[in-house]
Amino acid sequence: MKKSFQASAISDQRARKLTLDRLRQHPHAPKWRAQGEDRVQADDLAWLDSFSRQLTRSRKGWGPGKPSESVLEWIEKARVTTPYHRARIPSHVRLPEDWHDLPTMTREDVALHPEHMVPDDADLKRMLVYRTAGTTGHAILVPHHARAVASYQPMMEHVLRRYGIRPRFTAQSVACFLICSQRQTVTWAATLSYWKGAGFAKVNLNPSEWPTKESPQKYISELAPQFLTGDPFSYSDLLRLEVPVRPSAMFTTAVAMRPGLKRRLVEQFACPIIDWFSLIETGPIGYACPQGDAYHIMPHDIHVEVLDENEHPVPPGVRGEITVTGGRNPCLPLIRYRTRDWGTLDFTPCSCGDPMPRIIGLEGRTPMNFRTADGSLVNSADLSRILREFPLVQHEFRQKADLTCEITIRPITSVAVDEEQIRTALQKALGNLPIELRQDPELGNELHTGKVISYQSELMVND
Ligand SMILES: [Zn+2]
Repeated sequence: MKKSFQASAISDQRARKLTLDRLRQHPHAPKWRAQGEDRVQADDLAWLDSFSRQLTRSRKGWGPGKPSESVLEWIEKARVTTPYHRARIPSHVRLPEDWHDLPTMTREDVALHPEHMVPDDADLKRMLVYRTAGTTGHAILVPHHARAVASYQPMMEHVLRRYGIRPRFTAQSVACFLICSQRQTVTWAATLSYWKGAGFAKVNLNPSEWPTKESPQKYISELAPQFLTGDPFSYSDLLRLEVPVRPSAMFTTAVAMRPGLKRRLVEQFACPIIDWFSLIETGPIGYACPQGDAYHIMPHDIHVEVLDENEHPVPPGVRGEITVTGGRNPCLPLIRYRTRDWGTLDFTPCSCGDPMPRIIGLEGRTPMNFRTADGSLVNSADLSRILREFPLVQHEFRQKADLTCEITIRPITSVAVDEEQIRTALQKALGNLPIELRQDPELGNELHTGKVISYQSELMVND
């Protein structure tokens, strides 16, 4: 018995290696910009299994008000161990009574003080630092943890099951491709421990990344990932390239998908398009209910509330800013983190059977495409990649109908920035279009009255 177990473990290892080689060395493979590995350890696997069970067992409805006992317990620990929370939450604040007196936190807080966000007892050897793609906002650094990153997998599996899809992961198969379409982005191929060694790759559809013109079609269809994740622009490129792939589902960053594009994706790929509401800082927050126009809250270990401009909770049905507490990233404990996405909360039971509350009318940030002087497209993530090299907290970039651009920047306090250097770097990507640049040290401070919109375009973008 033991012998056959060992033999099967060895053959799984071998299969995993073969899958990785197939992903990396396929004759039509794209350029790989990084060596990927999931850094999941043996004890993480047990933790992920338990998290997966809790995703089902701990799903229950809740009403408006204070977080659950387990989230409160988690906050009590985080407020003591995390320098940022220690400095901001007065010791006289008692939970749950004073829940609504807890200060909220923003993306700017994480951008300015990522080092203060990491608890004293965090295992730094296991910390990863993620940089947000900057598709919809200024790119920031986010302290993360391999276990928290891998927790996306049980959550995706849970959602796939909600859509009637039961993926089978083996070391011989490819689980998922993350499809991007940018001038430049980090790409890699890996195998995923939690999914039994099944393959994963992040690919960029930009033609300059592939050996031949037909390579994206050949590579993606021959590797046959079971499902895809991507943003609307990447998916619209996948349509344009007519990639003959048959995924069982396509996850998409929820808020930006227009109905026209969604219809065309369903026609072409004949699978559900699953809207997914997730930020790197918070992890997945919600997924689109299979039966309706709303997002069920995804994991059981977060508390979601909707706040008005004065940080007060609004009654169910009234719009406000979606604010998240909790999660499972041991390197970034979030207490009342304002997501900059807006919607209303609905606590009434849903006919689909998921007891978790729903976010209705989710309105978030739309990724933007811009055009160069010669008409070619530039993804907002490309501009973020340029801007992140400068010491900025926030920016607002806008392209007008006549193609000229303007940008307002908020530099990190007391750091001088070279405006000319920023302008030149942006112009290089935008084909030397005129760019008007100004500085505003207060940009983002008036979040309540004037939400920062990192990217805006007056150009028409077709579905
Ligand atoms: Zn539902």
